[in-house]
Formats: sequence, structure tokens, C-alpha cells
Amino acid sequence: MIIDLRSDTVTKPTPKMLQSMISAEVGDDVFREDPTINKLENKVAKMFGKEKALFFPSGTMANQTAIKLHTNPGDQIICDKYAHIYNYESGGASFNSGVSCKLIDGDRGMFTAKQVEQAINPKAYYYSKTSLVEIENTTNKGGGACWDFDEIKKIKEVCENYKLGFHLDGARLWNALVEKNETPKQYGEVFDTISVCLSKGLGCPVGSILIGSSDIMDKAIRLRKIFGGNMRQAGYLAAAGLYALENNIEKLKEDHIKAKEIATELTKLPIIKVVEPVETNIVIFELNADIDESKFLKKLSERDIYIISMGSGKLRIVTHLDYTKVKHSKFLKLLPDFF
Ligand SMILES: *Cc1c(COP(=O)(O)O)cnc(C)c1O
Repeated sequence: MIIDLRSDTVTKPTPKMLQSMISAEVGDDVFREDPTINKLENKVAKMFGKEKALFFPSGTMANQTAIKLHTNPGDQIICDKYAHIYNYESGGASFNSGVSCKLIDGDRGMFTAKQVEQAINPKAYYYSKTSLVEIENTTNKGGGACWDFDEIKKIKEVCENYKLGFHLDGARLWNALVEKNETPKQYGEVFDTISVCLSKGLGCPVGSILIGSSDIMDKAIRLRKIFGGNMRQAGYLAAAGLYALENNIEKLKEDHIKAKEIATELTKLPIIKVVEPVETNIVIFELNADIDESKFLKKLSERDIYIISMGSGKLRIVTHLDYTKVKHSKFLKLLPDFF
């Protein structure tokens, strides 16, 4: 039995999801004639109370499109030092949009409205122009932490005062919504653009969605084409998204419970230096300094258990749909052998 806890992206479509995929009605989406894609986009736009949504092959492309939408070359965007757009998108912000990032030294990937205000460049011509604030909810490198919505609203005020765009990287927004009892609509009200992922906790094989007003999204579809993200009969993939939105959102709660149980067990073990607080489906922890991390990971993989290193001594466990109850109890039972 393989226990793969490297990421919530390792899930495979279930027979029921596959069934909904193969029975999808499809058409050429470049002509906007794929009824299943249209249905998914309309459904998600409505969920968030926005005018339009657009299906993307990846979250990276959705975020990169959003950055391009809100900026001009030479501009600067404000994000946390842990941000996915800064760390894990291959430098795309500078490559695609010609922008630099002003990094905020936040707490677990989150920061305050005051920090945003301090990070905005003065108007003088020799500064780069600040044009976008980007946040991530939940935070990936921040260990699945959820933002305080009141702070988000304060940041929105700053964005309005300084005429800055406000983008949400919501790759794991679904996790925050179920954990904090929040609604997509409240996020739709605050952000100009939101990207959400279907292929993480929701278990789809492919897909992200970018959401925004008609004006913005009419530009987004052109950018998606420029980035090569146009697809044809991708309704087969959109069908998985529709299935996941109806069946898999509530299930995220189980991932969160399992992650918390893992964290509780890890805390008891002597070779662990620290376990970061767990709010959703991500557990980040550090081993004591005298433990060789790569040897440790190798020992786990010899027993078919896979977790990932985040660098700087941090290890990451992510629970997901395919991490079943059976796997969970086996893992909890095995833990003391390794640690
Ligand atoms: C996974 C992830 C993305 C984008 O992922 P893709 O692999 O490109 O779909 C963006 N932001 C965050 C926070 C993520 O975790």
C-alpha cells in the first residue's frame, strides 16, 4: 500500500468522476462551443457572484494571466515572501509581465493591511509603479493557513485608496471556505480576480478557473490564447470539475481532520523539533538538527511512504481524497517506527 502524502495533486479520478467525464457533451471551446465548459464557467462565476469565469489548464497559467491583466511592464506587485507566484511559477511574473515583486515578510504567508500600505511605492517617477496586491488563501508554503477575512477587507480598502488591483490565488480556497464557514460570494465581492484549482483537494485530473468581471475576463481570454492555453473538446475535463464541485467540497473537512490527527501524533515524537499549527490539509514540521533529512525521507520511501521537503529543514505532509481511512490508520500506527 503506497501512502503518498507529497501533495493533494496526486489524486486520481474515481470511477464516478471518470463516468461523468466520458459521458460529457463536448464541442470546440476555441469557438466557445463546448457546452460542458460553458456550464462549468457559468456555475463558478455564479458561485462567486462574478460575471465571468474561464477554464484554464493550470493554476500557474490562471495566476500568470491575472498578473498580466493588472500590470504593465516595469510595474511592481506586492505579495508575501512565501507566495506561489513568486516561488513556484518559474519566475513567470517577470518573464510574462515584466514586473518585479515587493515581498512582504508576513506570518505563515499572511500579512496586514498596514504592511501593504508600507510596501506601496511613492508616486515619484524613479520608483516602479505598484499596481497589484496578490494574496494566497490558503497559504501553501505557510502550511495551509487561512486568512482572517476582516484583514482581507482592510487590504481591499488600501487597494481602493491607491487604485491597485487585488488578486486572490485561491488554489486551495475551497479548504479555507469549508474550514472557516465562508462563502465564495464574500470573496467575489472583495477581489478583482480569483483563481481556483480543481486538481488539488477536489480531485480532478486537470484544471483551474479564473473569475472576474466581464471587462477583465474579455481581456483574460485573449491572454490565455497568447499563453497557449486555449483547448478544444476540453469539456471532458470540465465535466470532472462539475462533478467535483458537487461531490468533493464537503469531503475536504475529512482531509483537515486527518491532517490535525497526524500533527497531534507528530508532536509526541522525540525526533521532531517543531510542528507548525495545522488549520487545513497541510502539515509542515521540522526534524531535530542531528537528523539527516534525506536519509529520513529515504527510510520512509523504502516503506512506500512519501512526503516532501520544502527546503530550509521543513518537511510537508498533505492529506487528500486518495489518502483513505485505511491508509490514515496505517500511517498513524507506523509513525513511531520512523520518528
Ligand atoms: C498548486 C498551486 C498553484 C498552481 O498550480 P498548478 O500546478 O499550476 O495548477 C498556484 N498557487 C498555489 C498556492 C498552489 O498551491
